[in-house]
Amino acid sequence: MPRRSNRGSEKQARIAKSDTIRSVPTIAVTPTVKVETREPVAEGDTSMPKSRSIRKKKIKTESDLEKQTIKTPLTSPEEIKTNRVKAEAILGEQQATLLKGASKKRKATTKGESGEEAPDDIVPKKKRNNRKKKEEEVVMPLAERSVVGILKKSMYIGSHTSAAKGVHNSIDNALHVGANSFALFLQSQRKWVNPPLAPEARDQFRAFCLEHKYDAAKHILPHGSYLVNLAELDAVKAERSYTAFLNDLQRCEDLGIKLYNFHPGNTGKRPRPEAIARLAAQLNKAHKATSTVITVLESMAGGGNVIGSTWEDLRDIIALVDDKSRVGICIDTCHSFAHGYDLRSPEAFRKTMDGFASTVGMQYLKALHLNDSKAPFLSKRDAHANIGTGFLGLRAFHNVVNFDAFQHLPMVLETPVGESPDGKVKDWGTRAKEIKLLEGLIGLDPETDEFIKEEQRLQDIGAADRKKFQEVWDRNQQKASKKKKIQVEDSDGDDSDASCKSCDH
Ligand SMILES: [Zn+2]
Ligand SMILES: [Zn+2]
Repeated sequence: MPRRSNRGSEKQARIAKSDTIRSVPTIAVTPTVKVETREPVAEGDTSMPKSRSIRKKKIKTESDLEKQTIKTPLTSPEEIKTNRVKAEAILGEQQATLLKGASKKRKATTKGESGEEAPDDIVPKKKRNNRKKKEEEVVMPLAERSVVGILKKSMYIGSHTSAAKGVHNSIDNALHVGANSFALFLQSQRKWVNPPLAPEARDQFRAFCLEHKYDAAKHILPHGSYLVNLAELDAVKAERSYTAFLNDLQRCEDLGIKLYNFHPGNTGKRPRPEAIARLAAQLNKAHKATSTVITVLESMAGGGNVIGSTWEDLRDIIALVDDKSRVGICIDTCHSFAHGYDLRSPEAFRKTMDGFASTVGMQYLKALHLNDSKAPFLSKRDAHANIGTGFLGLRAFHNVVNFDAFQHLPMVLETPVGESPDGKVKDWGTRAKEIKLLEGLIGLDPETDEFIKEEQRLQDIGAADRKKFQEVWDRNQQKASKKKKIQVEDSDGDDSDASCKSCDH
């Protein structure tokens, strides 16, 4: 294409004359790198926003990539070794490899359940006053995006990404970690009122999706606000939740996104069937107020008043939704495992998925969140771990990425990422490595020595965290059983007839 001509040499020239090039440290998963030059918009130039100029360069490198050798993820036992080296430091190197070049862009704003970032300003800014922005930076992607067509199964493995400074930036960030699907917050997940979606951000988002072949209708899965509780009883609070929820759904439709993931909510200590009915009524209202977006209920970890931790809860919500084509489920591997749905062995995995199919129905499964769990089975605690390092372990994820029914669904990682000591700079290299690690498990024989060694290596990395969470769980169990014992003793004491019947005297 004419507009791309000579870009390589121009870029090289820019790189050569710039004193401020910062390359990403050596944690690229694949040796072939895509070099992107980020340049600011000239002072006063309103014709082309900054992101647009970045994107134009990316178009070239993307098409180049397609022509070049695209690194196939690990598909043979021999390659797992290579992958292990590439994926080294899923935890260990995080501190040492913080991204200088990407630091300005990847600063944390507000953190989600796994340190995710929300757009703190959805208007694409042309930071004209920042002199430093005039300096050029070279940011290499941490990993190439795999071509799903060459994987043995069509698994769209991706990551929750930052949408700081505008939703359109999430695409850049997804590309950066080699994600084939991604999640983002459409607005701050911890504020009730946010600025409206800027038309420029919307247009850029749509354009970038087309350019980079992200199917917004299938593989982008925004995450809802943590503040929203659609099962809320109080009329004022319920209205506030509904308004925020609907606003997010409208943003989805503006952006061409069809799947919207959210937490089902909380009963507020009211009877569960009533709470579920309130939630379903809000969904019905929201479906009528919008036209295409599918509201996707996330499977939860918690017990007590939490809604959506059991397949039965999810089934009961769907049962009350009028338009079944507008509701779906996202299984979070960490949450569901912690609640009591085992995924570790092939047999347990099969049983769990059979249970889901018979209780909820596979037709409702629209997405997955891929997280290992720091907390043990049945603990009902929501604590995400890096893949393979938690109580789920690598075998569980082998089951997941080889399960045919998960093909074509967005599979989004929300695992911990590295941070600088002040928490301001993040190392997304972890996510890039995990995507490659998971893609490498597709079609791989888990009985090979290489797999078993890798499984063990990752378990060793997570050993301290698992021990800590296990101890807490054990203590809680002991406390609970003591309490139960006391209650049983009390009730035995109170029930004199029972006591007498069981005694010899
Ligand atoms: Zn969530
Ligand atoms: Zn979680």
